[in-house]
Amino acid sequence: MSLYPAPFERLVEQLSKLPGVGSKSAQRMAFYFLRLSDQEAEAFASAITEAKRRVRRCEKCQNLTDQEVCPICASPKRDKRIICVVSEPRDVIALERSREYNGLYHVLHGVISPLRHMGPEDITARELLARLDGTVEEVIMATNPDTEGEATAMYLSRLIKPLGIKVTRIAYGIPVGSNLEFADDATLFRALEGRREI
Ligand code: ZN
Repeated sequence: MSLYPAPFERLVEQLSKLPGVGSKSAQRMAFYFLRLSDQEAEAFASAITEAKRRVRRCEKCQNLTDQEVCPICASPKRDKRIICVVSEPRDVIALERSREYNGLYHVLHGVISPLRHMGPEDITARELLARLDGTVEEVIMATNPDTEGEATAMYLSRLIKPLGIKVTRIAYGIPVGSNLEFADDATLFRALEGRREI
């Protein structure tokens, strides 16, 4: 029998499903929630359901947005001849922060990884190919410089190159095995500048 009331246990159980949260920290969070006012707790709960209800994938680039087409895809100022392929939405944020890139993006929502049972059908590879309609002249592979990121870039480039589109890989001053999102702006600038054809 549990020492805590059942509703409290259920809250702990849900919180411990969060990435990186063990049962100890889940309990600490649950105690924190109990100390909140009703209003504060309500704001927290509705932030979760609102985000879940309103945030979706851009129908073009698959990045997260609350519109059908995200502001980057909708902008007339962006260069529609270049698509930069990244694995996660947070990589778009990193590249946008560096202000060096003015093309479009494509978010894969993962990488191909046999170890984690992620195949080409689990990333947005099909959606990427559907975008290559003749306007696109270059696809930049900006997946992370680790084994899975490299394998994903190679897989996609083998599909794209036969279409007569230039495929490049960003040059990494970023150490192998590290993440794009942690690279500073100058490093990202050099990585984009130094991209080479693959
Ligand atoms: Zn978009």
